[in-house]
Amino acid sequence: MLRFILSYSSYIINIMEEQRMAYSFELGPIRPPSEAYSLLIRATRNCPWNRCKFCHNYKGRKFQLRSVEEIKQDIKTAKLIQDKIKELSWKSGYGGRVKEIAGMMLNNPPNEASYNVALWLYTGGESAFLQDANSLIMRTNELAEVIRFLRETFPNINRITSYARSKTAAKKSVEELKELYEAGLSRLHIGLETGYDELLRYMQKGVTAEEHVKGGRRVKESGISLCEYVMPGLGGKKMSKEHVEQTARVLNEIEPDYIRLRTLEVREGMPLLQKLQEGDFELQTEDEVVEEIGTLIERLDCRSELKSDHILNLLPEVEGKMPQDKEKMLATINRYLALPLSERINFQLGRRAGYYERLDELQNAYKHEKVEQAIKRIESEDSSGVKEAIYALKARFI
Ligand code: SF4
Repeated sequence: MLRFILSYSSYIINIMEEQRMAYSFELGPIRPPSEAYSLLIRATRNCPWNRCKFCHNYKGRKFQLRSVEEIKQDIKTAKLIQDKIKELSWKSGYGGRVKEIAGMMLNNPPNEASYNVALWLYTGGESAFLQDANSLIMRTNELAEVIRFLRETFPNINRITSYARSKTAAKKSVEELKELYEAGLSRLHIGLETGYDELLRYMQKGVTAEEHVKGGRRVKESGISLCEYVMPGLGGKKMSKEHVEQTARVLNEIEPDYIRLRTLEVREGMPLLQKLQEGDFELQTEDEVVEEIGTLIERLDCRSELKSDHILNLLPEVEGKMPQDKEKMLATINRYLALPLSERINFQLGRRAGYYERLDELQNAYKHEKVEQAIKRIESEDSSGVKEAIYALKARFI
């Protein structure tokens, strides 16, 4: 029986091989963690601003608008891949169910676009994300046309989201944003990062706190769900206090549906690295960043939902709805901060090395011992090596 299944799978994979590169469409480099299983459609290329010091994603790449026809062609190609998967399902006795064939395709995808469609179908095929950094910069009627076409082509999609800049959102009228909402745009992910003007300037974010508020409130007023990304650690040692105070103030004014944390990490390709090397910017410790998140939560006075689904965040379980989950989130932070230093270091290294996902896992004797052994090994080679090891492990995630 096993032999039959294996040869049957390879028969299907052979058919996929024959179609290698037959159907493909363009994909951008990133999407938010919450859109990991979304169909990705590239509406524009790269970032029209591209100057933020803490961002490496599009550096060296030129921004380009894509024509509506070009984007529609990609959507049609995604549909062709879906149809092929359905056809294979019928031919191979799965009665048109896509999950099994999509699963096989994931093991040996003909190309990146097919992988994206297969993953999307395998996980239910319910959402789509428009790439790249600021789709809102498109003409409103053109973006609305793309969104409508996407909805018509895939009627099962129940959520279409995209990245946007506050500055661009602030330049659109509420009526224009409503037009996008009515066309089917469900949510915008905006990189707020901080609400502190001096830090926004230092990081060359190209937006003011006032524009953050204006853009965010307009999105909300239009009916589009709003997710604001905040970057703990962005203020460094110098501006942490103001970063957290002003960010909480701005978030309270916007009251987004979601606040997402994405902790700062500095790596090659970010202009901030030079500032760090010159000593102009000083990173906070992991514990200082956790404290900062605690202060932010204390100061939030809104009904947003806080999410912590980025791999760079040390405590992903610090999530919940405001105001009812505030105490629970603060309790987790305080529990971590009350640990002895050796335990905090064990958790930091274990989390960054992939042993732990949640603080509770520190109680897992097997994992704890494995991390302790790793710490001893690193320290025997270099007494300050653990900090470096944590830093290096974090850098892998971006
Ligand atoms: S606007 Fe966003 S994508 Fe563009 S440089 Fe800034 S952080 Fe990066």
